Amino acid sequence: MAQEDIFKKLVAHCKEYGFVFQSSEIYDGLGAVYDYGQLGVELKNNIKKYWWDSMVLLHENVVGLDSAIFMHPTIWKASGHVDAFSDPLIDNKDSKKRYRADVLIEEQLAKIEGKIEKEITKAKKRFGDAFDEQQFRETNPRVLANKKKFDELHTRFAKALNDGDLDELKQIIIDQGIVCPVSGSRNWTDVRQFNLMFATEMGATAEGASTIYLRPETAQGIFVNYLNVQKTGRMKIPFGIAQIGKAFRNEIVARQFIFRMREFEQMEMQFFVRPGTELEWFEKWKETRMNWHRALGFGDENYRFHEHEKLAHYANAAVDVEYKFPFGFKEVEGIHSRTDFDLSQHEEYSGKKIRYFDPELNESYVPFVVETSIGVDRMFLQIISAAYTEEKLEKDSRIVLRIPAPLAPVKLAVLPLVKKDGLPEIARNIINDLKFDFNCQYDEKDSIGKRYRRQDAIGTPFCVTIDHQTIDDNTVTIRYRDTMAQKRVAIEELRGIIDAQVSFKKLFGQA
Ligand code: ATP
Repeated sequence: MAQEDIFKKLVAHCKEYGFVFQSSEIYDGLGAVYDYGQLGVELKNNIKKYWWDSMVLLHENVVGLDSAIFMHPTIWKASGHVDAFSDPLIDNKDSKKRYRADVLIEEQLAKIEGKIEKEITKAKKRFGDAFDEQQFRETNPRVLANKKKFDELHTRFAKALNDGDLDELKQIIIDQGIVCPVSGSRNWTDVRQFNLMFATEMGATAEGASTIYLRPETAQGIFVNYLNVQKTGRMKIPFGIAQIGKAFRNEIVARQFIFRMREFEQMEMQFFVRPGTELEWFEKWKETRMNWHRALGFGDENYRFHEHEKLAHYANAAVDVEYKFPFGFKEVEGIHSRTDFDLSQHEEYSGKKIRYFDPELNESYVPFVVETSIGVDRMFLQIISAAYTEEKLEKDSRIVLRIPAPLAPVKLAVLPLVKKDGLPEIARNIINDLKFDFNCQYDEKDSIGKRYRRQDAIGTPFCVTIDHQTIDDNTVTIRYRDTMAQKRVAIEELRGIIDAQVSFKKLFGQA
């Protein structure tokens, strides 16, 4: 099945089963804003818990914070967002559609990369076990020609971004013959910068009101609280502050479901270190974060690091963790070495000293910062994309969400075989016993086969069926989502069996 079709199915599945709804749907929706339904909110909470516990509980020197969305407007001047938080936009004059110029070029690069991968897949099939991929990459004329095209375009693109040369970005689009996917034409406007921050007003009277911004990242709330946390928590460098919260960006293009939203949620951690040690910490956090992703078991080959073409104004090193979505490798998380830029800027703009006295060096300095920043919503999409499976069975087929058990919205469904003979009561008793430990669902409607399918479709790792034998011997059938295997076990064993699979400890053991 084409990857775009899979993506469409994912979006439809998310709606059908109450994971994600378009915001304001009965009013025809609001662009790039989404609501999480009854199952979506559970999955989202579990993702946040996986992140929070791995950062704050497992690292003695990382603490949490929950700062306000509204902040003093000067903060965004100091951070550089008022002047420089913008994307280059370009319009197609025929379709009137708006695009990000950098994304159009990135997609062109991905196309060339795709051609290389196609050659390799073809050759792999042709040569079988004898295939030497490295040799093929180094010698095949078609691969080499495309590699040359890729490198030339990449170099030109990176230079244009770094020089902030908008004319050159447009020229690249023209030279590459990039067409608008809607009109198919090359009738482009000039490239302009577009600031992504939402502004609003605070204050009762028009005269007294001042412009404030909805935060475009949670990081600044951490920087401006650095002194508070360091002092009150008696934190010693190196240490980190973690925060989960909403962020807002007036994104130019928003057509990829929850991949790019105008209101979204970030999980960010700023790690404060001694100047000169930041690149070491950068490498360490790169590894830690990649392990966190890989522990979910979606296949190491589906993750990669991507170096930034252009470093942000504050960074001296930056890398993205990319996941292979149905629409290609895309960023899920950014890891940035932000130097002392933010704290120094806040020192300057606030007039307050933001220093750390290092007793080992017997000197004060502005700490350097390594940041890890991941979108909850992108992580959500990553999990749904990786988990969604259509399986052919002997007689029919099923859709199953293979969500890692600790993240699954519902952990177990308890199903009385029939609605009588005391079976529903036994089911309710089991739920009453387990509901404080696990999210349970009760279902007595339709045949048992249909009920299993419904639970597969929402990713429930366990179904527990109560039948007449249960009345005699207190045993039930437990069915496993992934293998569909069924086992007869005593009711008292359920807690242990389920806990072994759904506990976060299991994931942390691998992370
Ligand atoms: P992109 O290049 O895709 O616009 P970015 O590099 O601007 O992303 P960062 O500023 O590094 O993103 O933000 C950190 C993380 O926040 C991203 O890796 C992503 O997971 C998430 N994120 C950023 N923008 C959005 C958005 N519009 N919708 C959903 N998640 C987002």
